[in-house]
Amino acid sequence: MHISSGLPQGFNPQAYDMVVVGAGYAGSVCARRLAETSGFRVCVLERRNHIAGNAYDCLDDAGILIHLYGPHIYHTTSERVNSFLSRFTDWTDYQHRVLADIHGTLMPVPFNHKSLKLAFGEEKGEALYRKLVETFGENKKVPIMELRNANDPELAEVADYVYENVFLHYTMKQWGQTPDQIDPSVTGRVPVFVGDDDRYFPLATFQGMPAKGYTKLFENMLDHDLIDVFCDVDARDILSVDETHVLLCGQPYGGEVVYTGPLDELFGLDLGALPYRTLDMQFETLDQDQFQPVGTVNYTVSEDFTRITEFKNMTGQVVPGKTTIMREYSHAFEPGSGQTPYYAIIDPENRALYERYLERVEGVTNFHPVGRLAEYRYYDMDAVTESALELSDEIIACHA
Ligand code: FAD
Ligand code: UDP
Repeated sequence: MHISSGLPQGFNPQAYDMVVVGAGYAGSVCARRLAETSGFRVCVLERRNHIAGNAYDCLDDAGILIHLYGPHIYHTTSERVNSFLSRFTDWTDYQHRVLADIHGTLMPVPFNHKSLKLAFGEEKGEALYRKLVETFGENKKVPIMELRNANDPELAEVADYVYENVFLHYTMKQWGQTPDQIDPSVTGRVPVFVGDDDRYFPLATFQGMPAKGYTKLFENMLDHDLIDVFCDVDARDILSVDETHVLLCGQPYGGEVVYTGPLDELFGLDLGALPYRTLDMQFETLDQDQFQPVGTVNYTVSEDFTRITEFKNMTGQVVPGKTTIMREYSHAFEPGSGQTPYYAIIDPENRALYERYLERVEGVTNFHPVGRLAEYRYYDMDAVTESALELSDEIIACHA
């Protein structure tokens, strides 16, 4: 692998069998698979000055490993994804736990058996828990919007409490809308858990952190003789798409193109901008060993920020007397402002707009949009990896 900044003089895309736009999971997985399985010469273009996309991590001034674009915890139920990524890293056995600060009391989220007792007191909490077990069974996930529909006064009391104290204000801060107004799959990511397991991802079969960090995982994934990575290159400067062709440096390109950026950007937003939420992340290094008891504390009834992450609690890094925390402030993304489009806003209108952009590239058979941005999806790392593995299967099959 060769990583460089900018394109060399006389750069010729025709020297490559595949051009990948973006060095996050979607792009890096495809690059690696086509290089090693089909012997493709692959060129990866990345507009940031580093690889790893939003999973990028690095040391800050205090020597603490931070996630520059927000806390990333690896979790999956996919054997295929896990065995693919495990070729490039060992994993720690970190199990993510989140507490919600509810009027000063720290309660486990997803809301569980223990949270019920903290919220309602030992005796009433236990009675409500029994009711949940009778209704839904033990070790079951119940999305809050489903719990709200339960036609029972005791369950309604739990639902009201959780809706008010865990979801309403946090969701307003994160999305600028109430839980009723957003797609139910979003709040469904953090269901009430009828059980004692207090992990954020209780049903994940594989969970952990890459032992040497995410950036190292990507360095290993991209470390192949047939892969060249060019950072600080915005692909739009050399790439365009018409109804049937990809043009690279002004010439029709016959190789494969894997595109992991936003589709609307590729067309100058000419049908309108796809809406996103962005985040301002405020990092602070404190002169103390530890700030909070877990990786992330969600502020669900107070504060302007949504959550505070303390990186040492997730990475297990030992740095005596110093710790770095990060607060996340969410707001609407403004296209062209230099902000990062972090979260697609899933609703039928936005999906319809996305489909119109997608239609434009459907006739371009060597152009493949994939990933959180290019598919306009709320994807976790494992789901993006899975999507990229499937796309690479298809491209490999076409060239077999
Ligand atoms: P990205 O990582 O965004 O990579 C796309 C890359 O393409 C970027 O590097 C971008 O710079 C580049 N690019 C775009 N356009 C161009 C262009 N024109 N030219 C050149 N380069 C371009 N997932 C989990 O599984 N667990 C978590 O705990 C978790 N936490 C998250 C927390 C936050 C705050 C956010 C925002 C996401 C989180 N995710 C988490 C999701 C995870 O970040 C994504 O699933 C994953 O990074 C998506 O990979 P991707 O390759 O699709 O996109
Ligand atoms: N959510 C909430 N309160 C919480 C945790 C989550 O209201 O304490 C809602 C909120 O709408 C959030 C969504 O559930 O956007 C998904 O949460 P998750 O932690 O999965 O978000 P991410 O880590 O992807 O930002």
